[in-house]
Amino acid sequence: MNTTLVPERMPQKKDTGTSKVRVLVIDDDPLCMSLCKRYLSRPGRYEFDVSSAPSGEEAIRRLATEDFDCLLVDYYLPDLTGTQVLQRIQTDAKDDAPPAIILTANGGEKAAISAVRSGATDFLPKRALSVGSLTRAITNAVDNSRLQQSIAARSRELKVANEKLQFRNEEISNFYQSVSHEVKTPLAAVREFIAIVRDGIVGPVTGEQMEILDHALDGCDQITSHFNELVEMTRLAARKISINRTETELSSVIIQCRAGVANAISAKTLTLETSIDDSVPSVFVDRNRINQVVSNLLGNAIKYTNPGGRISVAVTYDERADVARIVVADTGCGIAAEHLDRIYERLYQVDGIGDESMGAGLGLGLSITKEIVALHGGAINVESTLGEGSTFTVLIPREDTGLENRRERCEESITN
Ligand code: ADP
Repeated sequence: MNTTLVPERMPQKKDTGTSKVRVLVIDDDPLCMSLCKRYLSRPGRYEFDVSSAPSGEEAIRRLATEDFDCLLVDYYLPDLTGTQVLQRIQTDAKDDAPPAIILTANGGEKAAISAVRSGATDFLPKRALSVGSLTRAITNAVDNSRLQQSIAARSRELKVANEKLQFRNEEISNFYQSVSHEVKTPLAAVREFIAIVRDGIVGPVTGEQMEILDHALDGCDQITSHFNELVEMTRLAARKISINRTETELSSVIIQCRAGVANAISAKTLTLETSIDDSVPSVFVDRNRINQVVSNLLGNAIKYTNPGGRISVAVTYDERADVARIVVADTGCGIAAEHLDRIYERLYQVDGIGDESMGAGLGLGLSITKEIVALHGGAINVESTLGEGSTFTVLIPREDTGLENRRERCEESITN
């Protein structure tokens, strides 16, 4: 497998938890320097450790080998301006430069604004220097910078965790795929042998034996369908599935789905009605995937509707939103309100409902359905009343016109 994992934790330059704050005062004025030292020696939330550099070049040299939590930079240094010092420091330290406060002489506000624009956190006029203003400015700058560092570290950790999850998803997907292959190949042979016996090819079979062999065949089909669902789900989670859009007549998809469930409908003495509005144009979708969506919804409708019940599939077109609407409704057991938000979750099933003879599902069908609809930029919605039935509505944009645009149109159409 080709997935590269980034290291567990990115190396971090500083321990951001310390209450000791190292300040570098970059100023050639000894008076300002001693003032800063004196003001910062007062006890407060932070203990300040103050060093000095009388020129820009010396400050840059020190910063290459020492860590500081905050810089106080005089705008007018003998060799460089405050802005130049900041630019050099930022280039050298990349994203890890300490916060800097520019000290301006009288009337130096214009220079300070230009320094703030080039990355200084704050500026302080020298004439306004006091214990309060200086400690407040440094404390704010350090707190802000530590907060930003911890947010950046958290984002890096989340990125790593995400990549790990992606990697695990791929592993699980590959695992299911190979297990599925190993099981399905002999299972297909078993099914074939059972079918040979059931069809009387190797000798006469009684009606009772035939019924038992039919159950065996159904069991084989169920195992195959479970494996298909598991593989499908993990492939979707690992983003290994893409859709292949072609111009499609939804009417032909519905006819195909109807044929696919004809036996199950008559076996349960259900009624299936289909209607396709004349205004529905051809749509650009992955035909097989939309078939899968409708088949899943129809399969559920059959599974959760008692004999004698009614199921309908209706396709209409919302011209304003340019969206096709497929509605699958049943008169089945319905879904209690507290489950409605959860039925699309992987493996989520409502206990004690459904038709055992249709075989227990895995609780993956709707989550796969929702993912496929999302890959088309569409939306799915359900309305249900316990004991009366459920109505699933799928909205599919007619063509691919950008994800955001498609989502907006579906949201608009689903609320109408
Ligand atoms: P399952 O394999 O259990 O059918 P799904 O993901 O297709 O899994 O559906 C999740 C759950 O949603 C089902 O277990 C069932 O409780 C409920 N459900 C889905 N469709 C219907 C329906 N048409 N009528 C009633 N309940 C439904």
